[in-house]
Amino acid sequence: MGKIYIFGHKNPDTDSIISSLVMADFEKKLGNNDVVSCRLGMLNKETEYVLNYVGVEAPELIEDLEDGQEVILVDTANPGELIPNLANVKIRKIVDHHQVLINTSYPLFYRAEPVGCTETIMYKLYKENNLKIDKKIATLMLSAIISDTLLLKSPTCTEDDKNAVKELSKIAELNYETYGLEMLKAGTDISSFTIDQILNLDAKFINLKEVKSIIAQVNTASIPEVMKMKSDLEAGMNKIIKENNLDLFMFLITDIINSNSQVIALGQKANIVEKAYGVKLENNTALLHGVVSRKKQVVPIMTENA
Ligand code: MN
Ligand code: MN
Repeated sequence: MGKIYIFGHKNPDTDSIISSLVMADFEKKLGNNDVVSCRLGMLNKETEYVLNYVGVEAPELIEDLEDGQEVILVDTANPGELIPNLANVKIRKIVDHHQVLINTSYPLFYRAEPVGCTETIMYKLYKENNLKIDKKIATLMLSAIISDTLLLKSPTCTEDDKNAVKELSKIAELNYETYGLEMLKAGTDISSFTIDQILNLDAKFINLKEVKSIIAQVNTASIPEVMKMKSDLEAGMNKIIKENNLDLFMFLITDIINSNSQVIALGQKANIVEKAYGVKLENNTALLHGVVSRKKQVVPIMTENA
């Protein structure tokens, strides 16, 4: 049997990277040693902080795989954000907390739960299989849950996520609030990235009914700091709109301290933002009070109003 490649979505966030590492540990503990943690893109600063803190190597960067390779998918089941040759590889397992968007012609292990983070499901899988979670793995898992739920403050956060964080903090011997804030803050450092990289760090192609869109997000501790780059960001967004024939590009600058997002919206369908949130875009931007979750507070309401 060949190797099994484990990876999450393109423009990987902390959960996608950590899920590929944790799933590899899980598989090894189940006795499957021929597994490789992979990633489909550059690490962000938050993920770098976590990997440095724990002292683990980043997963291997891949772009595509050959026909027949075996894979495990984590933190996504969306073919649009995976490898080009997905139709010809063999998916063994999927563990995810998003919408189900994939079809296969063969059976597979598929675990999806509407929780805040893939690691909350992984935590349950370790328990169900009576597998021990060691300190490093616990720290990784904890970090991913803090990242996806913005320190348990996002509306995507469930009781299961909170419980996992509580238990994992004990194993990790960490005060998750202090550690989590440091980790989230590390993720707000975008000073070394180009405008294009910033726009792509956490960008998702999403069709809002017929409206072809990108919804991208960046975390910050200071919205005005990021807004200093507004004209450069807009120039970059307009370029991406042209290249991809988009109707809408929403760039969310999310304040992790106060839980609000400043949106910059461009494209011929930018007015959907005004309709969806009852705001007026002034110079292409508006503050969206209390909005932090793309999955819960942006995609559904934008789809409804598209
Ligand atoms: Mn993710
Ligand atoms: Mn996730």
